[in-house]
Amino acid sequence: MALIQIRSLAKSFGTSKSLVKAVDGVDLDIQAGEFLTLLGPSGSGKTTVLRMIAGFETPDSGSILLNGKDITNLPAYERDVNTVFQDYALFPHMDVISNIEYGLKVKGVEKSERRKQALVALEQVRLSGYENRKPSQLSGGQRQRVALARALVNRPSVLLLDEPLGALDLKLRQQMQIELKQLQRQVGITFVFVTHDQEEALTMSDRIAVFDRGKIQQIDKPAAIYERPKNSFVADFVGVSNLITGSSATAILGKSGTYTVRPERITLGNVASGQRVANGVIKEVEYLGPATRFLVELDTGISLVALRQNTSQSSVDVEALRNTKTTLSWDISSEYEVAG
Ligand code: ADP
Ligand code: MG
Repeated sequence: MALIQIRSLAKSFGTSKSLVKAVDGVDLDIQAGEFLTLLGPSGSGKTTVLRMIAGFETPDSGSILLNGKDITNLPAYERDVNTVFQDYALFPHMDVISNIEYGLKVKGVEKSERRKQALVALEQVRLSGYENRKPSQLSGGQRQRVALARALVNRPSVLLLDEPLGALDLKLRQQMQIELKQLQRQVGITFVFVTHDQEEALTMSDRIAVFDRGKIQQIDKPAAIYERPKNSFVADFVGVSNLITGSSATAILGKSGTYTVRPERITLGNVASGQRVANGVIKEVEYLGPATRFLVELDTGISLVALRQNTSQSSVDVEALRNTKTTLSWDISSEYEVAG
């Protein structure tokens, strides 16, 4: 049995005249110990789902079960879940250790015991030695670790994280992604993680639920989401869509329908036998360091993005390719049909 079972969950905001269906019929099973990510653009309903699991928002309809028990209408403080927000929400006047102990204090845990548990949590987030600092004396990344420790110390079955790394700069963010994933493995707590960043979702998750307009478009393992997107929304949101459709599909693939080919599967020049071939002109060249991205306008009218590893060419060499003719090719096995 899944740890969390969400059935037909719905929530609207506003008046009958201007109603926003924030969550529009969500079914979701979350397994114990899983790192599940809710991924989608801003306004797609991710936070509202999380807030309903936490108990900060009441659903219009549907149900949420935790460990087989219906918690749909249970107050937030009676749920075995904890939430970590992007803005940390630490108590500014309390030092780090008091911030972490706070939840245990409220529960009536005795002083020496809660100190002991808080120190363990502080060590788990690798902040031993920082117990007497105030939040204002910490960096953004350190504050986020304290917020994590404060949630972990309660040993919840489920930790809900709403864009927790959103305020951090890219480098720190990438480092925290790895640490957070390691921490989750180590403590074994189920994480429900919200992000609008597809790369972050692909890096960290056991499974990803892709949201659009209050609905789950696809739920699957990261590689499956990336390589076998169910529809053009998922293909587009979780990467570069590279959709071949209509007359281009007929001309290049000899079949009708809508197909996607990932940029890293497309080769410039060097056609091997048995491969698909499409001619066009290189319109844009983007040097990314380890790789170069090419935007190629095909003779059939559509444009495809191709990604090439920079194993030998320098940036000067690739820039010279702008506005030159090229031939794209890929294995037929790299084509994947998506719903329109
Ligand atoms: P996400 O987290 O994916 O960005 P949200 O769940 O925050 O999306 O929001 C989904 C939709 O519901 C948006 O259109 C948002 O404006 C609306 N919404 C969310 N919360 C409220 C609220 N308290 N009052 C009115 N509209 C809301
Ligand atoms: Mg949100």
